[in-house]
Amino acid sequence: MVRSKLPDTGTTIFAVMSKMADEYNAINLSRGFPDFHCDEELISLVAEFMHKGFNQYAPIEGIIELREVISDLVHKNYSFQYDPEKEILITAGATQAIYTAISALVREEDEIIIFEPAYDCYVPAIEMNGGIPIFISMKKPDYKIDWDEVQKMVNPKTKLIIVNTPHNPSGSILNAQDMEKLKKIVSGTNILILSDEVYENIIFDGYEHQSVARFPQLAERSVIVSSFGKSLHVTGWRMGYCLAPQEIMKEIRKVHQYLAYTVNTPMQYAIAEYIKRKNYDLSLRQFYQEKRDYFSRLINFSRFKIIPSAGTYFQLLDYSSITDEKDTVFAEILTKEHGVASVPMSVFYKDKYDAKVLRFCFAKKKETLERAAERLMKI
Ligand code: GLN
Repeated sequence: MVRSKLPDTGTTIFAVMSKMADEYNAINLSRGFPDFHCDEELISLVAEFMHKGFNQYAPIEGIIELREVISDLVHKNYSFQYDPEKEILITAGATQAIYTAISALVREEDEIIIFEPAYDCYVPAIEMNGGIPIFISMKKPDYKIDWDEVQKMVNPKTKLIIVNTPHNPSGSILNAQDMEKLKKIVSGTNILILSDEVYENIIFDGYEHQSVARFPQLAERSVIVSSFGKSLHVTGWRMGYCLAPQEIMKEIRKVHQYLAYTVNTPMQYAIAEYIKRKNYDLSLRQFYQEKRDYFSRLINFSRFKIIPSAGTYFQLLDYSSITDEKDTVFAEILTKEHGVASVPMSVFYKDKYDAKVLRFCFAKKKETLERAAERLMKI
């Protein structure tokens, strides 16, 4: 009766592995979410705004207080000014921002360049809108973009390039030279950029996050997507946002008003007030670097090989010296028999390229990391 519009798409791997983790009582390092609480003050603020009666629709584009806070943060961090009135939109998580932007910008037969391993929401969003994903692979251990290959793929049908730094699932980051190369490729074309920067505040070893907002010639053709979920430890609140020059944002807002309409009102007030009150810069560099290093130390002498993580709260582990099993199979064995759930990297490649690598989330309490490491050490 129904002819699927997404015949090749199943349930997202994060949900599949989390369900398996629950069923087998495994430690869930698959889906990326903190297992610790956000700041109590933030929760009190949500309650306070609810009690005060902020429970009805927010404006379509989000409350102005929050848009102003975002504009100030972006300006402080990347020296680029987005107009809170016209260039910022609050969305129900980054995933909705990404879908909305793609819906607004992509037409039938447009080509969209994406880099794999690719976060799993990009391709369905492209395909639902008739676009054609063009894949460029990044490989272990450094997961770098080959910009010569990108240059070769660019043609008059190229509508959009999706970049993601810090990169989920690999934990790699783009540096200033990467951004210069991207700038060169798009200059003189009509190509737009969708820049997924949801892990902008989780970057390690003193590196600077290379937001497209640092490069005015990129920013003028870019949509930046980011999120409070990661930065405030509230992934379940679905509080994302996007930034784009007025002409592009106008189109994104048109789609947003019929897709989500508006986003949770009390959460928006609470986050705006919280950031203003604490003059909060959202940086989680040290907080997560300590967790990354702690987890690495705990499993340093295991048979897993650590692939350095430069950002995000994910750690890749290469298990090729343990078994030849496919990564999807090994992830299942690890969950069911050893009690640790992870995500197999092959699912993020179109051709299911299997480099024997699994992704583990270290946004967890010390005890959780210790228990997981203890199990991994026995393998
Ligand atoms: N962003 C999270 C991750 O990468 C998962 C979000 C989801 O479950 N779709 O693990």
